[in-house]
Amino acid sequence: MAQVNYFLTEEQQMIVELARKISREKIVPVRAELDEKEEFPWDIIKDLAQADLFGLYIPEAYGGLGAGCFEMCLALEELAYGCIAVTTTFAASALGGYPILLFGSEEQKARYLPDIASGRRLSAFGLTEANAGSDVAAIQTTAVEEGGSWVLNGTKQWITSGGEADIYTIIALTDRNKGARGATAFIVEKGDPGLGFGKKERKMGLRASSTRELIFNDCRIPKDRVLGKRGQGFIIAMRTLDLARPGIGAIGVGLAQAAFDEALKYAKERIQFGQSIMSFQAIQHMLADMVTQIEASRALVYAVARTIDAGAKDFAKLSAMAKLFPTDMAMKATTDAVQILGGYGYMKDYPVEKMMRDAKVLQIYEGTNQILRNVIGQAINKEYAIRGCGN
Ligand SMILES: Cc1cc2nc3c(=O)[nH]c(=O)nc-3n(C[C@H](O)[C@H](O)[C@H](O)COP(=O)(O)OP(=O)(O)OC[C@H]3O[C@@H](n4cnc5c(N)ncnc54)[C@H](O)[C@@H]3O)c2cc1C
Repeated sequence: MAQVNYFLTEEQQMIVELARKISREKIVPVRAELDEKEEFPWDIIKDLAQADLFGLYIPEAYGGLGAGCFEMCLALEELAYGCIAVTTTFAASALGGYPILLFGSEEQKARYLPDIASGRRLSAFGLTEANAGSDVAAIQTTAVEEGGSWVLNGTKQWITSGGEADIYTIIALTDRNKGARGATAFIVEKGDPGLGFGKKERKMGLRASSTRELIFNDCRIPKDRVLGKRGQGFIIAMRTLDLARPGIGAIGVGLAQAAFDEALKYAKERIQFGQSIMSFQAIQHMLADMVTQIEASRALVYAVARTIDAGAKDFAKLSAMAKLFPTDMAMKATTDAVQILGGYGYMKDYPVEKMMRDAKVLQIYEGTNQILRNVIGQAINKEYAIRGCGN
């Protein structure tokens, strides 16, 4: 039967197959154990590094494959089919790497990107604090110029790969009174004096990913670790998130596809009232909605990622849409998959239990889905003011 044709190039098809192989052969067999033990997936990180996937979005000049947002989405979707905790670790390294790619000086790119591309060093992104989640302007971490160094003080919270990563992109206040221009982005390395890590958080899902505080206690870094210009911190954070959000949408698509496949297989096998539950219209309709919404999400993610790669300038609205719709869909699809498996779905013997627990975070991190609706709402309001309705 016909499938939607996304007209992938040979190279893109190879990326899909490579990520799919790692996902099915390396991730699926161990995902339940990693989840149970809350174990960081170092072995799989090595597999992803060997396959050169960490360098997918990094230009060839810095040791990467020189692909774009679309190819990242293809890889993330396949990896997420296996486990979104492992995939989040992979995605978080890109989130830490994007600011360097987008705003780094030539020296900074040459120094950090080859290590990130090869997977030798993981990267992470530190914006959130205890009192600054959606309200990023409320951050309290400060960076003060002192002699030839910057000195950072404060605590970043819930940083993916905190403690495991070597390279951190950090947003800190440099001019408290300058509002949106009051923050600056810095590169901090594990081992810099004064950088410590909190305990590993215990989470509902995403348990193979490690989430920790980054504690800056008179953390002294050289002057040349400023990313972009002083005062550009919030702009750098927003551009980074705009580039990363379609990838979170792709993770939602991969996760939902995995939940759908489990639910369909079970529906065909499970006999009640003398027939497979697939023969009940109630079950068929749930599966029909799932498969339709997965395809709609995939089409949206791919279209937005391709628009970004084609050089779109202001894509905050599109990028928010490409995270919002697929991640709300993934929460619904995983919940419905558990429903189709009934009591068995609630047990850890079947993978849909973990998928539903994992799905929730997709609606929270990298901008909650309420905040994304705000971003879209503000953008359409602005567009209306410029060109009116229907033009
Ligand atoms: C597992 C995990 C990993 C993470 N990894 C990272 C990381 O690597 N780096 C990093 O910097 N951060 C990370 N985060 C933090 C994440 O980005 C924040 O949790 C998120 O931005 C929301 O902030 P908050 O949790 O403080 O919620 P709050 O901002 O306190 O929001 C609470 C609720 O209020 C709603 N709300 C808040 N403001 C508004 C508004 N204006 N309009 C409508 N609704 C609103 C929210 O949508 C939410 O439902 C991670 C979080 C988790 C859970």
